[in-house]
Amino acid sequence: MNAREPVSLDLRVRGIGESPTLAINQRCAELRRKGVRVHRLGLGQSPFPVPSLVVETLRANAHRKDYLPVRGLPELREAVADFHHRTDRLDVPAEGVLIGPGSKELMFLLQVCFYGEIVVPTPCWVSYVPQARILGREVRRLPTRFEDGWKVAPEALDRVLSAEHDPYRPRLLVLNYPANPHGGTYSSTELEDIVRVARRYSLVLLSDEIYGQLHYSGNHVSVGRFYPEGTILSSGLSKWCGAGGWRLGTFAFPPRLGWLLDAMAAVASETYTAVSAPIQYAAVTAFRGGAEIERYLCHARRILRALGDRCLATLAGSGMRVHRAEGAFYLFPDLGPLAEGLAARGIRTSEALCERLLDETGVAVLPGSVFERRTDELTLRLAFVDFDGARALAASETTPLDQPLPDSFVEQLCPGPLEGCRRLADWAAG
Ligand code: GLU
Repeated sequence: MNAREPVSLDLRVRGIGESPTLAINQRCAELRRKGVRVHRLGLGQSPFPVPSLVVETLRANAHRKDYLPVRGLPELREAVADFHHRTDRLDVPAEGVLIGPGSKELMFLLQVCFYGEIVVPTPCWVSYVPQARILGREVRRLPTRFEDGWKVAPEALDRVLSAEHDPYRPRLLVLNYPANPHGGTYSSTELEDIVRVARRYSLVLLSDEIYGQLHYSGNHVSVGRFYPEGTILSSGLSKWCGAGGWRLGTFAFPPRLGWLLDAMAAVASETYTAVSAPIQYAAVTAFRGGAEIERYLCHARRILRALGDRCLATLAGSGMRVHRAEGAFYLFPDLGPLAEGLAARGIRTSEALCERLLDETGVAVLPGSVFERRTDELTLRLAFVDFDGARALAASETTPLDQPLPDSFVEQLCPGPLEGCRRLADWAAG
């Protein structure tokens, strides 16, 4: 580009960079190309292959070429409604389901359409707040505490809202569990406590439950059970079905929020039109479930739990504090207890922490700041997914599901994340 070329960017996107989850992946790929040994604990992508039944359906439907209805293929909307009924005991009508090119895009559309404040507990997934920024929207961050397992304390939510000039103006609260970036989740009682506050202020809840099927005990509870009238339930194929690159997300709306679905569908029709047809046909098979998919999930959960626990034990020995993951594939250690030693090495922010870690050990993780934490908090997220998921699934098949995996399993089949955690722990302990 000519250096004198005028740059005429809208104010809202000036200075905006590529999303950190995708940027770290790119950076790892470049370092590897240059021959640097990198331990990829950055991007949160499922290590497991898409279940073969679902891949076969995609193959069989590759010839589908017509535009599909903007809200989604009717059989798929039916299958998603049925999925939520089966797995979440939620009565969402098929007409309340909206299919999008990834739940990320649906969240963006929601922010385009919803009038009101967005309330986001932090740490949170990297894109909720930048999406709001792109749209010039107000965001209210609600910082949570390590001591509370990084979970929303209902009293804190109540306090923040009741202190508002207009506590009852329209607000959207984002919940996400099992959580990215820390793998924690909520019990039914905790959800009921949050719902009491949500109901008091008539909040709309966006419940991002994309990791619901990766709850390690298979006991995920949707908040929609306690707040059916106000919950938009978000899911998709990316995490539990290992199909992030297929880009298929789902929102399920209660009838009371049909106006929001209508508006989002209208905007969708003017932007992406509809999700790729073959992918939607394949997704019908995924959401209908069945014995093969259930088995796949049971093995995936058992592997992730065993690996998460090993990573946790490795990190905890170094003096940092970190909660056990109960689902998904993330840990969010806080290196605060090691702050003094780190400061002596010139490290005072999470960004500096991750840069130095990458430079000095080849371990790639993401700083707490991109999850909307204070820049001087020494937190980071690691994703324990860099291993051969197909091989691990096949090996897990040889141990009956009612038994634990052998001790050597993680060491032999998931060596990458474990080695990354060892390096991180040694480096942090200085
Ligand atoms: N959700 C994944 C992560 O947090 C990656 C996908 C994305 O951010 O779009 O790493």
